[in-house]
Amino acid sequence: MPNKNPPNEDPSTENDKSISQEGMVKQYFANNPDQDIPTQKAVDWVVKTYQERTGKTLRDPDRAIRKLHQRGFLIKVATGVYRYDPTQVTERKLEDFTDAQKKFILERDGYKCVVCGAGVESGAVLHVDHIKAKDFGGLAVVENGQVLCSKHNFMKKNSGQTETGKKMFIRLYELAKKDQNLELIKFCEDILSVFDGHNINGHIEWKK
Ligand SMILES: [Zn+2]
Repeated sequence: MPNKNPPNEDPSTENDKSISQEGMVKQYFANNPDQDIPTQKAVDWVVKTYQERTGKTLRDPDRAIRKLHQRGFLIKVATGVYRYDPTQVTERKLEDFTDAQKKFILERDGYKCVVCGAGVESGAVLHVDHIKAKDFGGLAVVENGQVLCSKHNFMKKNSGQTETGKKMFIRLYELAKKDQNLELIKFCEDILSVFDGHNINGHIEWKK
């Protein structure tokens, strides 16, 4: 019996056959420079070729494409459309904004914290923050950037617990409204108002 496909595929063996999943995606775009390529077109080729070459399934090719975009290897032309321009390639640190993007975001937000409005003139140190965090696949695109002062940047970075809590109460609130449970509705509104009053997790919206 040939032991070609071990039952539990270990991800650490993915480089066995000389090309990585990301390398496969890179190769496709490098072979098709200066073209606007819909993600699906690239994915079809990459998945098929990777399977043929390594006998393995390429998992989450969309993610590999996004990563290459975040690193500056691919230019995002539109939603789901990428281009490889050999003259523009500057692979940068994963998911970081470029200096030009930071400048754009600072100018767009008026050099002020979007939460409290503090600016450099009032002594605030400003940060360009990823609205959707890098760890959650937040892209280095200007739409995903916002200016925060140190205080709100710190609060946001440590807000995992409160985000979870707020989402939980929003869910509970929606259920309470569905059931017309007036007491529970009021309780949830009170709690969610406390979040708003402290400017915590304003990016998670709820409506009365
Ligand atoms: Zn602030």
